[in-house]
Amino acid sequence: MWEEFLPSEGAQLKNLIPHQPIIIIARPKVNTHHTISIGTQATSIIIFNPEIPQAALLRQWIAENATYIRRIIEEKLYDKAHQQVHPPIASQLREIYTIDPTAQQTKPFWIKAEIRIRNTNSRYYFLSCPNPTCMKPTGADIDTDFTCFYCRMTYPKPLARLRFETQLCDDTGLLTATIEDDYAESILQTSVHEVIRMEQAEEQLDIAVINNRLQNTRYYIQVRNTTRSVQFIHNPRYIIVAYLPYYRSNALPVQPIFLILNPRRRDL
Ligand SMILES: [Zn+2]
Repeated sequence: MWEEFLPSEGAQLKNLIPHQPIIIIARPKVNTHHTISIGTQATSIIIFNPEIPQAALLRQWIAENATYIRRIIEEKLYDKAHQQVHPPIASQLREIYTIDPTAQQTKPFWIKAEIRIRNTNSRYYFLSCPNPTCMKPTGADIDTDFTCFYCRMTYPKPLARLRFETQLCDDTGLLTATIEDDYAESILQTSVHEVIRMEQAEEQLDIAVINNRLQNTRYYIQVRNTTRSVQFIHNPRYIIVAYLPYYRSNALPVQPIFLILNPRRRDL
């Protein structure tokens, strides 16, 4: 919770948390960077323990699933590391030539493609705000305290995150997409700290070697179009939100990535 929400709704929530309140948040700011983070923005509205039938149902579900809920919290099962991505079914796959580069901010879609790192001269990481609901880039220096331009909070140092451009290639075309964080690390097989160490030691990442390793391996790649036209300038931008090696395709129906929130799953 931010700014004006802190003394009112924030304080109320702090008191209510031990009693497992039911909360409605209208117009939250949702970030799915690592886990699902929900933050407030100026237009958000928060209602505690609403007297509606859905709240009664949810309360009943909480009572029936108390053990499951405790486990989620204790073992941090809500964390991305515990969530499984399932391969898409055939009807969810798209060929690259069908992707309209003029479309803006569509829902994520899947392609089956090879991944290559684009050998640009830019860095393979960037520094961001560490606030999980913000995560915006910052111009701050490594290991230096800074105030985030977006969320206006001060932090002891920015968060270094891997991010670079890839070229996705299927039999029908090429798509440039950004890859970040854990996915970027598993493609590079190098951590962000190692990338920074190499940069400081003036060593080069051998992209040709990595691309050689990636060659002839197809992945199911889930891509989100994050294009926004600003003042008639249209710059298509895609980001990889999930990927799986193709050989793991058991034609399972795809399920939401955030399974943990599915109330029917009690078998974890
Ligand atoms: Zn921030």
